[in-house]
Formats: sequence, C-alpha cells, structure tokens
Amino acid sequence: MSATATAQRVYNFSAGPAALPLPVLQQVQDEFLCLPGAGASILEISHRGKVFVDIIQDAEATLRSLLGISDDYAVLFLQGGALLQFSMIPANLLRGTDKTAQYLLTGSWGKKAIGEAKKEGNVETIYDAKDSNYDHVPGPGDYAVSDAAAYLYYCSNETIQGVQFPSEPECPASVPLVSDASSDLLCRPLPIDKYGIVYACAQKNAGPAGVTLVVIRRDLLDRGSENLPGYLNYKNHADGDSMWNTPPTFGVYVLGKVAHWLADDIGGLAAMEKLNREKSQVLYDVVDSFSEFYKGHAQPGSRSLMNVTFNLPNDDLQAKFISEAAEHDLASLKGHRSVGGIRASIYNAMPREGVEALANFMKDFAVKNG
Ligand code: PMP
Repeated sequence: MSATATAQRVYNFSAGPAALPLPVLQQVQDEFLCLPGAGASILEISHRGKVFVDIIQDAEATLRSLLGISDDYAVLFLQGGALLQFSMIPANLLRGTDKTAQYLLTGSWGKKAIGEAKKEGNVETIYDAKDSNYDHVPGPGDYAVSDAAAYLYYCSNETIQGVQFPSEPECPASVPLVSDASSDLLCRPLPIDKYGIVYACAQKNAGPAGVTLVVIRRDLLDRGSENLPGYLNYKNHADGDSMWNTPPTFGVYVLGKVAHWLADDIGGLAAMEKLNREKSQVLYDVVDSFSEFYKGHAQPGSRSLMNVTFNLPNDDLQAKFISEAAEHDLASLKGHRSVGGIRASIYNAMPREGVEALANFMKDFAVKNG
C-alpha cells in the first residue's frame, strides 16, 4: 500500500462492513495480481485446485485452533449472509417437527430472526427486553427454557443497540444452543462445546462481506429433511467440505488471513479480549464521566465490547458531533437509522489509538457544547 494511501485512511467506526487489520489488507494487496504458487489472482483460480483447497483448509484449521473447535463440529463457509441463517436454522432444526424453538430477544437482529423462524414452525419468545428499549440482556432466572425445545436462540451481541451477553445464557443439555455471533465472534474466547450452532457473517470481525461462518455440532447435520432446497441443508455443505457449490473464495482467503493475524500478531483470543476490554473501557469511561451530556444506551452489565452506543442531548448536537468527528478523521459514527444516536463500532481491527482519538474528541466536544 502506498504511503499516501495509508495516510489517507481514517479511523473507521463503521458497524459493517468494517475496518480490517492493516497488515491483512497489505498482504492482500501484495498478492492480489499473483497469488504465490498460482500464477493468477485469488479471484481467477478454481476452488477445486490445490492452491485454493490449501487456503480453505488452512483457514478452517486456524479457526479451529483459535476457537478450540473439536472434530465434533463442522466448520462451514457459506453465502447468503447472517440473514440466510435466520431461515436455515429453523429450516433444518424446526421445519416438519412439532417442537417449539425458543428465542431470547434483546434487539433488532433477534427480532428479525424470530420473524423468519415463524415461517418454519412454532416459535416462542421466552424473554423480550422491549420494555426497557433493548438496553440489557437477561440474567439466569429471567427466563425458562423447555427441555423439549427444538433449540434456544440468542444474539450474543446486538449490533444496533450495543448490547452483549457477557457469557452464554443458561440452556438445558438436551437443547441445542444457537447463537448469532455476527458482530462479536473472535472478540474473545468462546466455549464452543456449549453450542449447537454458532454463526457469523464475516464483515464485522472476520473479513469481507460475502462469507458466513457456521460452526455446527455434527449430530445436528441430519436434522434437515430431504425436501429442503439443497443449499439450505447444512449436511450438503458439511459433506462437501464447503464445496457443495462454489464457495465465496475471496472471502475465505481474507478470513484465513484475519485468523492468522489474530493467532500470530495478536497472540490469540484471550489477548484479543484483553485489548477489546481496554479499548471499550476508554469510551465507556468518557460516557460515564460526562453522563450529563452523553447517555449510554446499554446498561453497564450488558455493554458491548464491540459497539458502543450513546445519545447526545438533542438531534442538532448529534448531527454536529458526527460532522465535526468526520473532520477529525473519525468516520461512520452515526447510529443505525432505526434507533439514531451515535454508535462507535470498535471491532478487533480498530487500533487503540483510534479509540483514544475518539475519546479525546468526545471530551472536547462535551466541554465545548455541554
Ligand atoms: N445479525 C447481526 C448481529 C448483525 O449485526 C447483522 C448485520 N448487521 C446481521 C445479522 C445481518 O447480516 P447480513 O447482512 O450479513 O445478512
């Protein structure tokens, strides 16, 4: 990457597609015209050739090692984004059964997932944080999961509200626990053995848009009926090593590089979590110190390490904040159109300096406008 291009890069707080680690972008650029050993670009080679097969196998092995994923689980690289998983999960685990799928609802993405699941069968929302405007996650005892549920579903980090589960919700051993981890997978270690399915679109913490990672316990692969459209049946993808049809090759390639960056440069997910805790604390400390000016959305015990959400006293100040921040190279801070406010997305690739630059800007803005 030329020095000029690097210097023009802003601190990018976009919620997704989001900032990627600079060393990854630089490697992609270096290899873009000619992938070592391929004589062609990653965009131009067959997914069945040895070079790409090595890439996908290495991406899977690196993810398995980072997350501690055992052979009891398949790791799939799919298309269709996280949204297709809203349908694929109930299509495989609920369709055609007389069971009920139970959902914990803590924000906008969970709500959308429930809407899709209802098309496939019986769905029950056993916890809904609506009354407090989705500012927290439930604690143990706030909901009851049936031993006979088809699965228990939750969204570990609601990207729009900035609300994150600090750990897995309680779930009986007989019930597969399913998580939409689209905006927090790889931000910390995860006890995969507690899950039936964990999935994430890549474009926040793991790579570019176009690839979705699904980690699924192998005993759940046989649940989909033969009448399901082939693409929707997890078993086809697992049997075909994610090559049942052409996988999203570029996305898998970048995802593999991000996984290596996490393992080799950062030192693994525990080290990543430590950095993420420090980074998010820098911003929450400003929100708390200027609590007359900044109103944090999430309750303290449910604050997200990835999406820091807060409001200013009025819409005019909010607009001023966003435009003045942009002048300081602090970009994409506008909250989601459905809830407004400010959202600073600080995924793994956001450097601590970016967070500190935002914190300094916030303090200054509050003093000048408070
Ligand atoms: N779930 C969560 C938690 C998300 O943040 C998003 C994307 N913002 C989605 C699902 C939808 O992802 P996609 O656009 O890849 O379908």
